[in-house]
Amino acid sequence: LPQTNAAFIELEDRVAAHNYSPLPVVVAEAEGVWVTDVEGNRYLDALAGYSALNFGHRHPDLVAAAKNQLDRSTLTSRAFHNDQLGPFCRDLAALVGKDQILPMNTGAEAVETAIKIARKWGYRVKGVEQGKANIIVMDGNFHGRTTTIISFSDDPEAHDDYGPYTPGFTAVPYDDLAAIESAITDDTVAVLVEPIQGEQGVQIPKEGFLPGLRELCTERNVLMIADEIQSGLGRTGTTLACGYEGVEADIYTLGKALGGGIVPVSAVAADENVMGVITPGTHGSTFGGNPLAAAVGHAVVKMLQTGEPQQRAADLEDVFREGLEALIGKGVETVRVRGLWAGVDIDPDLMTGKDACKGLAKKGVLAKDTHGSTIRLAPPLTITEEELRQVIDALAAVLTEA
Ligand code: PLP
Repeated sequence: LPQTNAAFIELEDRVAAHNYSPLPVVVAEAEGVWVTDVEGNRYLDALAGYSALNFGHRHPDLVAAAKNQLDRSTLTSRAFHNDQLGPFCRDLAALVGKDQILPMNTGAEAVETAIKIARKWGYRVKGVEQGKANIIVMDGNFHGRTTTIISFSDDPEAHDDYGPYTPGFTAVPYDDLAAIESAITDDTVAVLVEPIQGEQGVQIPKEGFLPGLRELCTERNVLMIADEIQSGLGRTGTTLACGYEGVEADIYTLGKALGGGIVPVSAVAADENVMGVITPGTHGSTFGGNPLAAAVGHAVVKMLQTGEPQQRAADLEDVFREGLEALIGKGVETVRVRGLWAGVDIDPDLMTGKDACKGLAKKGVLAKDTHGSTIRLAPPLTITEEELRQVIDALAAVLTEA
C-alpha cells in the first residue's frame, strides 16, 4: 500500500473516475471534528461531509448503535419485516411532525421519491390530467444527480450533455413569491424548494418567503416539498430549516445526517393523505429501510429528540457570524450564516474559493468551495467555541497572507 498522500492521490487518479477534484488530503482516521491524513497531519473538518457528519465523525452513540445492529441483522429486504424499521419511522415521523416515512438510501433517491409521490397525488387526488403534472423548481437548485433531477438544474456542469431531459418542471427565480404565483397552473402538483440553498452557497431566502410559499401552496392546492437533505436535522439551529419560521411543508426529503455519517439513509416524510398514494409494488428499494440503516437512523433521531444538537448550532451562530463578519473588507465580501452553516463570498480579485480552501487546508482546516469565489463552512454541531474560533482565525490568516 502507498504511504504518502501523493502516492494515494496518484493511485486514485489512475483507477477512480474523475468526477471530483478533491483537496490533496488523504484521510485515514477521523474522530469528532478532527481527521488525520495518512502522513499523520491533523485537520479540523469544517465541511462535515456536506452536513452528513452533523454529529461529528464516529459519534460514540451512533457507532454503538451500528455495532449492536451488526451483531443482530443487517439486511432483510422489504420482502420481510424487520424489528428496526417501525420504531425508526415512528420516531422520525414524530420528530418532523408527519404521519409516515418512506425510507430510501441517498438524497437523490428521496427527491425522486418525493417527485413520484407528488405526481401521483396530482393524478389521483388533485385530478390533474395524465401526463400533465408539473412541478415548480427554483433557479440555482441542487437536489442530486439522477437524470430527472439534473434535467431541472441550471448548473451547466451538472446538466449539460446528459439529455434527453425529463419534462414536467418549471424553474423560477429563488426567493421570489410573485414568480411562483404566476407559474402555478391547474397542472401544478408541487413546488420543490430548498429552505436554504446549500450548494448555491448557503443562500438564505428573505424572511417571509417560506411562510408566504406555505400560504400560496395551501391556497392553490399545490404540495410544498421542502428538500431538507442538507439544511435539516439540526444544522440551522432548529430540527428543520423550515421550523425557523414555523413553516410546515407537505413533504420533507431528508438524508445526509440521517445516516449519522455511517451509512447512507434518506427518507421522505408526509402525512397519510399524501403518502397514501404509494401502494404495494409501486415504489421501492432493495436497501431502503434495512435494519442497519434504521438502527443508525433511529439513534440519530434519538439524539435530535434531546434538542441538544439544534441548541448548540443556535448557541454558536452569533460567534460564527460575528467572527466571519469581522473579515468583511479584509478579503471577504459577504457572509450568510444560519446556525452552524455559513456561505462566505471571498473577494474574487484576491483568490478563488478553491485557493482559499487550499490555504485553509495548509492551516489545518478542511472546507469546500462552491461556485467560484464562495466557500461553505459547515462544521460538525459538536464543535467547541474554541475550535470554531480556530476555523475563523485560519480563514483570517489565509486572507491576510494572500
Ligand atoms: N438535496 C440537497 C438539498 C442536497 O444538498 C443534496 C446533496 O448535496 C442532495 C439532495 C443529494 O443527496 P445525495 O448526494 O445523497 O444523493
